[in-house]
Order: sequence, then structure tokens, then C-alpha cells
Amino acid sequence: MAWFGLKRNTFARGIHPPGHKETQSEPIRRLDFSPRLILPLNQHIGKPSIPIVHKNQEVVRGEPIARADGFMSAPMHAPATGIIEKIDLMPSARGPKVQSIILKIYQADDQRVRYGRARDMSTLNPKEMITAIQETGMVGLGGAAFPTHVKLSVPEGTVIDTLVINGCECEPYLTTDHRVMLEWADDLLTGIRYVQHACGAPRVLIGIEDNKRDAAEVIASRLPIESDIEVRTVKTKYPQGSEKLLITVLTGREVPSGGFPYQVGCVVQNAATVAILGRLLPQTQGMIERVVTISGPGIKRPGNYLIPIGTPMRYVLEQLGFNGDAGELILGGPMMGNAVASLDVPITKATSGILALDHDSVVRSQADKVYPCIHCGRCVQACPLHLNPSQLGLLAAKRDYETMNNSYHLQDCFECGSCSYICPSNIPLVQYFRVAKAILREQSTP
Ligand code: SF4
Ligand code: SF4
Repeated sequence: MAWFGLKRNTFARGIHPPGHKETQSEPIRRLDFSPRLILPLNQHIGKPSIPIVHKNQEVVRGEPIARADGFMSAPMHAPATGIIEKIDLMPSARGPKVQSIILKIYQADDQRVRYGRARDMSTLNPKEMITAIQETGMVGLGGAAFPTHVKLSVPEGTVIDTLVINGCECEPYLTTDHRVMLEWADDLLTGIRYVQHACGAPRVLIGIEDNKRDAAEVIASRLPIESDIEVRTVKTKYPQGSEKLLITVLTGREVPSGGFPYQVGCVVQNAATVAILGRLLPQTQGMIERVVTISGPGIKRPGNYLIPIGTPMRYVLEQLGFNGDAGELILGGPMMGNAVASLDVPITKATSGILALDHDSVVRSQADKVYPCIHCGRCVQACPLHLNPSQLGLLAAKRDYETMNNSYHLQDCFECGSCSYICPSNIPLVQYFRVAKAILREQSTP
């Protein structure tokens, strides 16, 4: 039965940073095409895609330009009609230059999607549906960029009874999922049917934070009285959108330490990811654009923009009016996003936001002074996974990564940043944990 919950469900601990959802009433608008698109081959978790085009080759909008390198990879499609200028190393959000396809677009073209064909989705079995999803090049749009088809491919014999649609968007500033759920609710419900078929879940729970009640109401109003899809509002709290926490809040089940949602019968997908699949799959099209929140005090015309993948950040900021004195530019949200040094980095499939924050709005600047731990315990009270960030921080300072891992569950930390945010001594705890995990990864690589 369709149920629009008014309960304020939530998890224990967490934090309440200011929402700054100023763009939540800004409808999705299309941004003009930039003259050049920069398309990194490693836009997703897993192996980079492999180019199937060459320099000076003409491509049409929507045409595949890179193939997946195996199952743990995703293909890429041309976001515009134009000509391949080169394949070269280009700046990336993560810092080092990465191999990228540079597409010079034909400015005179009307940029209609010219690739794809209508197909009857009802003929696909679950396996074919997963293949079709991989062919779209879709990855989780919430920021993790995990290939969607991989998340849907649970081990043989696993029974999935619940598909969880994550509409929490708990990061401050970001409002892309909110607008997509409001404006593309029918696409979301179409996409849910495809994803549900792929994973075999008999019921669907849509979790939406209660600061997006309008989106919850719109979706609930589209459902029949008797439905296997339920819309549930959950309390606005960070990091409510963490998939393991959301599973617990919605189903009461706990994903084991180091485990996966399928181990408790669940698959979780981001709402915008599923809505865009609802648009692409019936047309056999690939993912070539996404909605991005452009916000922060440094932006003159903030809003939610539909932007071709590969658009350089510099172009976006020039179009929307950028106060160059902004203290920090962040790709993603202020809690889990990356500060970027170069305006030449492009929008990728994982880019949910571009924030131009001034010095007063930056959640935690690396330039701020760090003070010794005063053992106040606030980080422990904030950690939604009941870890001990203070102790982990002290061990990180001593480079005792083994103890962090073996005795203090470092690998359970999903880097939400709540501990760093709350720390009165401004200790960059989450940065310490990222470094510790990276070093342990390197040490375990033969
Ligand atoms: S970053 Fe890790 S340790 Fe810190 S609050 Fe989040 S999950 Fe806990
Ligand atoms: S919040 Fe900061 S100062 Fe307080 S216990 Fe944690 S690390 Fe120490």
C-alpha cells in the first residue's frame, strides 16, 4: 500500500549543519554548451573506460566514444555533436592529470541527441536489464560514482526483498535530487520499475528527508492506493543519506561491519540515478548530462542546471557569474566533496554540485589553525557508526595505522566528516582517516 509517512524516522547521533538549500526552489534549467568538453576516462569507481574514437573523428550527440573495460567499468557517450580534438592527460578533480577525450563541439549544430532507438523494455529479463543499464554508462549520481549495474548484480542465490531509493540528499547546499524528484517524478517511477525488475525486489521504499516534503507529496500522489512502492519521510539530519544508515532507518536491519546491503536483502539506488535511467533506457541512450547544483555566496546566479558531462568548471562559473574572491571552490557538497585548485577540471558523472564558498561559509578550511585534542568527546557523540574518531585521530598522528584498522574499525568509517565538522580543535580527522586508508591500501597491494 502506498504510504506517505509523517513519522520523523532517523538514526542515532549525526549532526545538524546549516542546510543552505537556497536553490531548492530553482527549477532545472539547461546550461549552454561549452565550446570544448573534457571527458576523463575514469569517471567512475572501477577500471577506466577504453576510447573507441580517434583524433579528428566526428561524433554525434549520444554516440558511444569509450567502451567499458570489463564488468567493473562503465562506457562513455558523446555529450555533444562535434569532432575529437585529442586524447590526452587533463586536470581532474582528484588532483593528478588523467587520460581524457577532448571533444570540440560544432557550435552551429542544434545538439539534438542523434543516437539511440526506441525499445520495448517489457521484453528484457533481469540479466538483460542489467546489461542494458551498463550500456547507458550510468553510475551513482549521489557522488560515489559506483557503476549502477554492479550494485544491481548481487551474488547468485541472494534474495533481495527491498529496493531502497535514496532521496535524502543530506549534504548542505545540494538540491539536485530534490528538483529531479519534484520535476521528473514520472521518470523516477518508470526507472524504479526497471531497477526493481533487475534486482527482483518485491517492494520499494523511497526515503526522503522531511525538508523535501513537497517532493515526497508529488511522488506519493502519483501512486495508486494499493502499491508496492512506499514513500517515507525521514528526519533531516546529516548523514541521513548514507545507504547503510538509511537501510536501518527504513527497514530496521543492520548491514554488518564491512558488509553490503544485499546481505540484509536490500539494494540501494540514488533517486536521480533511477529517474535518469527511466528516461534513457526506453530510448537505448547513454548518460551524457546531469543536473548540478551551482551555489554558494560566490555565485551570482545560483540554481540547478542540466549540464553536459565534460563541461569545464571555468565555463560554468563564467556563465553564472563568479566572484573570483571566493575562499574555496568545492566539487560536490561541503562535507564530502573535494576542494579544487584548477578551474579547468570538468563536470563528471559524479559531480552533484559546484560550490563557491567564501571564508565564512567554508565548513572547515585547511588553512584554519589546528589545536590539540581537549577530549571533549563531541566527535564520538557525532559519529553515526559509533566509532571513536578522537582515538583514531591520536593513532593517525602516531601513524599507527594497523591499530586503527584492527582495533578501532577504521574501514567502517565512510568519511562523512561529521567528526571533523564538530571538533572544536579543528582537527581534520576525516582527512587523517582518508590518508590512513590510502596507506593501508598501498601496503596491501603486492
Ligand atoms: S568521518 Fe568516519 S569517524 Fe568521522 S563521523 Fe564519519 S564515519 Fe565517524
Ligand atoms: S571533538 Fe576534537 S577535541 Fe573533542 S574529543 Fe574529538 S578530536 Fe578531541
